[in-house]
Amino acid sequence: MTSEPLKFIADAMLGRLARWLRILGCDVSYESSISDNDFIARAIHERRIILTMDRKLTERESAKNSLLIKSPSYKEQLKQVITHYNIDYKSGIFTRCLVCNNLLEPIEKEKIKDRVPPYVYSTQDEFDICQQCGRIYWSGTHRTKMLEMLDKILK
Ligand SMILES: [Zn+2]
Repeated sequence: MTSEPLKFIADAMLGRLARWLRILGCDVSYESSISDNDFIARAIHERRIILTMDRKLTERESAKNSLLIKSPSYKEQLKQVITHYNIDYKSGIFTRCLVCNNLLEPIEKEKIKDRVPPYVYSTQDEFDICQQCGRIYWSGTHRTKMLEMLDKILK
């Protein structure tokens, strides 16, 4: 993996893939309704790699920096992207907001007491927050399950 982090933009069909790449910490722009021209313009302007299932789009001269996603299954899509770009998927995992694509920041436990379920508060000590949307993230069985799934599909 290069030192410059990869940045992606995913087409409207690839919402689930975009979310999973954000779980891995990848910077992924995603909008469910955007025209092809705006999509490509943003990719060029923000130097993002285009992820798309649209072969025609990848054949455009302006969309050269792209990866044609082959499978309709998000697990296969994820595998394709991780393998193709040799992404070290464990180094940045759980560092990004799944909704906003913002990097998370640690927040003191006391500050979010009334914002997470009591069980979570009593069993977890480390929390992160997205400064844009205010969502709070923490470790737990959901993350363990995600890691297990990743190990499984990447085997
Ligand atoms: Zn957010």
